Amino acid sequence: MKAVVVGGGLGGITAAVALRAVGWEVVVLERAPEFGEVGAGIGVMPNALRALRELGLADEVRRIGTPRVPGLLRDPRGRVLVRVAQGSEHVVAVHRADLHRVLRSALPERCLVTGVEVRSVDELDADLVVAADGIRSGIRREVFPEHPGPVYAGATAWRSVTGARFPRDVEIGQTLGPGTEFGVLPLGDGRVCWYAAVVAPPGGRADDELAEVRRLVGTWHDPVPALLDATPPGTVLRHDVHELRAPLPAYVHGRVALLGDAAHAMTPYLGQGACTAIEDAVVLAALCARHDVATALAGYDRLRRPRTQAVARASRVLGAVGHRLRNPLAVGVRNVVVRAVPGWAVARGADRFTGWAPPSLSPDRG
Ligand SMILES: Cc1cc2nc3c(=O)[nH]c(=O)nc-3n(C[C@H](O)[C@H](O)[C@H](O)COP(=O)(O)OP(=O)(O)OC[C@H]3O[C@@H](n4cnc5c(N)ncnc54)[C@H](O)[C@@H]3O)c2cc1C
Repeated sequence: MKAVVVGGGLGGITAAVALRAVGWEVVVLERAPEFGEVGAGIGVMPNALRALRELGLADEVRRIGTPRVPGLLRDPRGRVLVRVAQGSEHVVAVHRADLHRVLRSALPERCLVTGVEVRSVDELDADLVVAADGIRSGIRREVFPEHPGPVYAGATAWRSVTGARFPRDVEIGQTLGPGTEFGVLPLGDGRVCWYAAVVAPPGGRADDELAEVRRLVGTWHDPVPALLDATPPGTVLRHDVHELRAPLPAYVHGRVALLGDAAHAMTPYLGQGACTAIEDAVVLAALCARHDVATALAGYDRLRRPRTQAVARASRVLGAVGHRLRNPLAVGVRNVVVRAVPGWAVARGADRFTGWAPPSLSPDRG
């Protein structure tokens, strides 16, 4: 059986690895001149790590990622709102480029083709087409022409990674100010990935984006100023946040499966966009290992649509009660309420999303 994967982002590459693991012939077509990921760090949540374990890649990701550190939610003065102890399966922050490289290392070169822009599914000779062509998916437009596509989610986000290395005790953290959020993901090698998000109209650009972030959060608690000071100027990426607010009516069409942002681009507040793309890939392959393509695709839609659309909704809600709150009174009330919630209850709430476990890729294992 042969699959063509359109798009070589984290979702597409994982799909290729997973389908090959169940014996399919796979080719990934990527329009960019080379494979790789820009961007900064990414938190690989326990749900995605379990999926990577099915592919035999979790240990390598853990090796290059953050050791176990506590998670903190704070206010801009550094007062702790919630402290989340990490369980045995913790969030592992890695550089996106490193995660992409680990995934690519599981594929022979001949599976990876760059510089090819797919214009229509009809061009592709395959039993299965995996549309992993991202939030602006052309295949989604082709198979669901009525769908309105992505919309602006109301916030712009900056991301970068420090040049300098920090001590191993930097926590995974999020700080919520009025209309603004700052997040910290320590990488395995001591560098620290940070991101900032602010409620703003779309399309804004500054001559010096690092200075813009400093203006917003430069007086916040330690280590926020130190992280910005340690960031090489010119490395700060800025993206307006978009999402597929109107849920797709199906993730499959004929022999096409939509996967990752093509199917369910979501806001980043739960840190689950790429994680759920990785889940999609393993579920699709597990179904293809057991069934004919039509049955596998029906099962993929049935299993993936409710879960990923629920994660996307929860992420949107989290943004609305998180950094999108701007009214000082509402922020104060939110902080009092959040402080009253014990860390174990937060961990249990998060478990609804991070507690997911993949099906086995091996049909013999149920
Ligand atoms: C600010 C921000 C922070 C985020 N933080 C996190 C996080 O911490 N954790 C997390 O899990 N997620 C996070 N995400 C979400 C995550 O980045 C995405 O969900 C994920 O990268 C989607 O992967 P994908 O493979 O589906 O799509 P993409 O990464 O967009 O890949 C699509 C690929 O398809 C290619 N392509 C497109 N059209 C064609 C075509 N016609 N022919 C051939 N190739 C084509 C593109 O060039 C691209 O390489 C964040 C997102 C943002 C914006």
